[in-house]
Amino acid sequence: MKWKQQLDGMQAYKPGKPIEEVQREYGLKEVIKLASNENPFGCSPKVTAYLQNNAVNHALYPDGYAQNLRTAVANFLGVKETQLLFGNGSDDIIAIITRALLYPGVNTVMADPSFSQYWHNAEIEGAEVRKIPCMEGAHDLDAMAAAIDEQTSIVWVCSPNNPTGVVIPDTDLRAFLAKVPNDVLVVLDEAYIEYVTHPGHKDTLPLINEYPNVLLLRTFSKAYGLASFRVGYAIGQPDVIAKLDPVRAPFNNTILSQAVAAIALSDQDYIQACRDANEKGKKQYIEFCEKHNLKYFPTDTNFIFFNINADSDVVFQELMKRGFIVRSGKALGLPGFIRVTIGTESQNEALLNHLESVLKEQGVFA
Ligand SMILES: *Cc1c(COP(=O)(O)O)cnc(C)c1O
Repeated sequence: MKWKQQLDGMQAYKPGKPIEEVQREYGLKEVIKLASNENPFGCSPKVTAYLQNNAVNHALYPDGYAQNLRTAVANFLGVKETQLLFGNGSDDIIAIITRALLYPGVNTVMADPSFSQYWHNAEIEGAEVRKIPCMEGAHDLDAMAAAIDEQTSIVWVCSPNNPTGVVIPDTDLRAFLAKVPNDVLVVLDEAYIEYVTHPGHKDTLPLINEYPNVLLLRTFSKAYGLASFRVGYAIGQPDVIAKLDPVRAPFNNTILSQAVAAIALSDQDYIQACRDANEKGKKQYIEFCEKHNLKYFPTDTNFIFFNINADSDVVFQELMKRGFIVRSGKALGLPGFIRVTIGTESQNEALLNHLESVLKEQGVFA
């Protein structure tokens, strides 16, 4: 058949192994997944209560405009309803943006390592991908600005960055935005914004007024604990949103997912509690890294990326045998590192005990 040439040799996204598969393969009763940065505490109890008591009519299409959720998010953020675009996860929004702006002959600039969907979607559209190496896990914003030319359509900025966890301070972000031509879309992916505690970080919402070419991406998949419901959204100027909207599939969020996202948003106390617990969990990992002299990147997320001074695929396998799923840095662009989602206190403790014995076995420390 007459496939797009770009699809030659292209692989589907390889997610972390599902818990059930690891249980079967290794004969384990309990498996803890700390691989995809989901909220280890799950979602707000208000959502759980709603799901137990609510019967929606599954025969009907959902509201394609997500009106109730739109109103809730617009009120929460203090933006106009026309400044929002909802997607089936922010993955969907990334695909929509890419489809709207990229084609053979144009290019797109991003950090490396960063979120794989930026380049994956760009390659499908046949655009040139310009990957700019990170410095100490941070975007090299000067080099990224220098990589922009007449043919650049999108710049992807992931803050905090997945997989390194590093957030971009407000002053650096503004200095960068001032250099980007105003006909280049800057996508600021903030999948982990709820976890940011860095003192140099400021509210990014005002940026869309100061720089109308900025689009923010947020999601209910991480801190809100609703990854299975697939709800993400973009915030931007109404004319940017209006250009992207026709590219969106007509019913890209379900009735149930729109309902639970709005409920989850209303429970900010829960988000605050998760952020506090995450800060404590982060300390467990940082103490471990410092005790064993392992290099880690400063993280403003619910995961941490650190150097285990060993083959990360081997360590990944050894941890899996012991019932823990993490991500090997090899798949994420930094072999020798692993990315671990910060879990509950007891999950973190158990993982770190096992990691200590694995790294002893590997001869990394005595
Ligand atoms: C998890 C993640 C996403 C995708 O989130 P969904 O809303 O579940 O599609 C987007 N960007 C980054 C950086 C992520 O880590």
